Amino acid sequence: DKKVVLITGCSSGIGLSLAVRLASDPDKTFKVYATMRNLSKKERLLESVKGLHRDTLDILQMDVTDRQSILDARDRIVEKRINILVCNAGVGLMGPLEVQSLNSMRHILEVNLLGTIQTIQAFLPKMKAQSQGRILVTGSTGGLHGLPFNEVYCASKFAIEGACESLAILLQHFNIHVSLIECGPVNTDFLVNLQKTELGDTSLQQVDTQTLRLYEKYLQHCRSVFQNAAQDTEDIVKVFLDAIQSPSPAFRYFTSTTGAPVTQLKVTEPDESYISAMSKIIFSTEEQ
Ligand code: NAD
Repeated sequence: DKKVVLITGCSSGIGLSLAVRLASDPDKTFKVYATMRNLSKKERLLESVKGLHRDTLDILQMDVTDRQSILDARDRIVEKRINILVCNAGVGLMGPLEVQSLNSMRHILEVNLLGTIQTIQAFLPKMKAQSQGRILVTGSTGGLHGLPFNEVYCASKFAIEGACESLAILLQHFNIHVSLIECGPVNTDFLVNLQKTELGDTSLQQVDTQTLRLYEKYLQHCRSVFQNAAQDTEDIVKVFLDAIQSPSPAFRYFTSTTGAPVTQLKVTEPDESYISAMSKIIFSTEEQ
């Protein structure tokens, strides 16, 4: 029997690559339900799988903020079960906190936090009844330590950590494994899709010059990190495969060790050490 996998957010990035890899598995181990909010974006996925994968891939509409669309997708699963649920859909929000509208903050929490939770809710009863399953969640190092100008994004990703830890404790008793795949920067459409306050944006006129100066530095830092240290989605997919194939998967997987020392500081040292270390990393480029 094939392992039935449902993945959210498959029109680009990590979700797309994972769907392609699993659907193209030479042993045809998986039946992949690649879901996306907007089906008109399915061409990229179809081109990437190259050729017919009628028996290993199905594409379904699912907006994780829309409960009915989650239930409709669930009802279209021919096998009437899923073995692996991958909660991957997510968006970023970047800019000085004081200019963020309530709506844009709400949207990030709706997609990243409630979207993940209500997707899990929809599949949980069936997985419990089967007494087996895996729930994989695309986590972020921004869910483990704070990042300036990403307050609401980090809040959403921290919150997912709490939700997943809580679930993992319970679901052990149902033979369901929860794993977080913690990613640092990855080359995807994330930076294009995120809601970002651009430097020329009129909303920044109300922001003090010190914040603006630091925001500019942050954006430079961010660009250079993505240019120099971002992983490719294939690297992330390998880690997902580890978690999928392991007989007893870990709760947290780290896709790269480059960020680890700062993350480690956060756990082992007083909180101030992390806060000043990160501030140095991001803002300490020489003054112009
Ligand atoms: P991406 O923007 O290419 O992919 C995100 C996907 O989520 C897109 O396909 C988008 O359409 C989808 N999505 C957004 N809102 C949705 C909704 N309401 N319903 C369904 N789908 C929706 O970026 P990515 O990097 O592949 O992001 C995947 C996950 O990885 C996200 O959760 C992101 O927070 C996380 N992540 C990314 C990075 C990075 O640097 N790229 C780092 C850490 C974590």
